[in-house]
Amino acid sequence: MSQRQPSKVFSSLPELEYRASELHLEGVSLSRLAALQGTPLYVYSQGAMLRALAGYRNPLVRRKHLVCYAVKANSTLAVLQVLAREGCGFDIVSVGELERVLTAGGLPSNVVFAGVGKRRDEVERAIEVGIKCFNVESEGELMVLSEIAANLRKRAPVSLRLNPEVSPNTHRYISTGGKENKFGVPLATAAGLYRLAARLPAIDVVGINFHIGSQITEVAPYLRALDCTLQLLDVLEAEGLRISHIDVGGGWGIRHLDEPLSEPRHLLSAILDRLDARGYGDRELVIEPGRSLVGNAGVLVTQILSLKPTEGKNFCIVDAGMNDLVRPAMYNAYMHIVECVKPLDCLASRRNWDVVGPVCESGDWLGLDRSLMPVAGEHLVILSAGAYGMSMASNYNTRPRPAEIMVNSTNAILIRRRETIDDLLKNEMLLTSPSALSSPLGRG
Ligand SMILES: *Cc1c(COP(=O)(O)O)cnc(C)c1O
Repeated sequence: MSQRQPSKVFSSLPELEYRASELHLEGVSLSRLAALQGTPLYVYSQGAMLRALAGYRNPLVRRKHLVCYAVKANSTLAVLQVLAREGCGFDIVSVGELERVLTAGGLPSNVVFAGVGKRRDEVERAIEVGIKCFNVESEGELMVLSEIAANLRKRAPVSLRLNPEVSPNTHRYISTGGKENKFGVPLATAAGLYRLAARLPAIDVVGINFHIGSQITEVAPYLRALDCTLQLLDVLEAEGLRISHIDVGGGWGIRHLDEPLSEPRHLLSAILDRLDARGYGDRELVIEPGRSLVGNAGVLVTQILSLKPTEGKNFCIVDAGMNDLVRPAMYNAYMHIVECVKPLDCLASRRNWDVVGPVCESGDWLGLDRSLMPVAGEHLVILSAGAYGMSMASNYNTRPRPAEIMVNSTNAILIRRRETIDDLLKNEMLLTSPSALSSPLGRG
């Protein structure tokens, strides 16, 4: 077989292809990047991110809408910048994410603030910069928000997050719309809480929202949640309350190989049809995709440290571990793995390998039973690593977090340098260090 023709690897990332048996992303050789920057290394395709964003926006062009990228999926500044330049909004869950959005050039007026536990300082900062909306999850939170806004002589725009008691078919840890989990206001009490919010002097009721989970692959759970939401809206609007935006959350899934999955436009058209049918087609539609905007745009490049064929299993030990990419260990996620350079059949034998990291945990694996032809010293590439990869990376085992590169058709740009051991140690003090406080915790 000729290796001259470029060959695609993955239908959801056409920017990734073998050219002369070497894997390239947007025309940039991944083994070259690994040689320059070391591994583990995250590499993102800017083109793939923009294409994913357009997939949400094109069906909404004739509608009042705001796509709010869920920052927690990948909060790297340059990733936010790519989206901010397109006028994308942002869904944040902390003041740290807010500062990231502002640093990357995002507009505060396009930011919605989610999360079950918002601290006072976080609320104050968000009011001060003028965010679009607080997505409120409880009466306690509403009252604190009202008090803080009143003290600042400002008004806080509010949407209530409903718990629509819809459980999508997904991993338990990433399902958020069920009765048994901590998120949202129960339907039974939501109308009462809206009436209370409407009476509070420093609160502006502007929206209604839900978010039912992550890696969802069916439209039906969204429509069930939307129906609950619209039923409540019927009641509230009959009482004279006007809700200007409807926020359907995020959670649309991505493909990890070639499994069937519809595009976000199918989800959007079903939602728009339902809004029209129920008389709410004139409202601003807010949607909060995270994974589906960046997940397939990123790969993790890792070097093969050694091969350890044993009687029971063949282990391929790589230099990326669960601290760099936790999804397989934490969610049992399947992530497709390919060779960075297609090995010659005479150098390696194809058999099944467990691709495992160097971290001292048996759960530290990236892929199990994968048919590969690994060669020690060469590189593997883990696909669909753009979301919940770097943003969940930790320093467990005192491992510096990876570097990140953004490629576009003309450039490969270093967007985060690799952490150093010094970075990891610099905030710590030995007991004898001169900066030790004279009394415990500085009290007295
Ligand atoms: C995590 C989260 C999202 C994004 O979820 P994805 O599965 O990444 O699309 C959106 N909204 C809220 C409130 C979230 O917590």
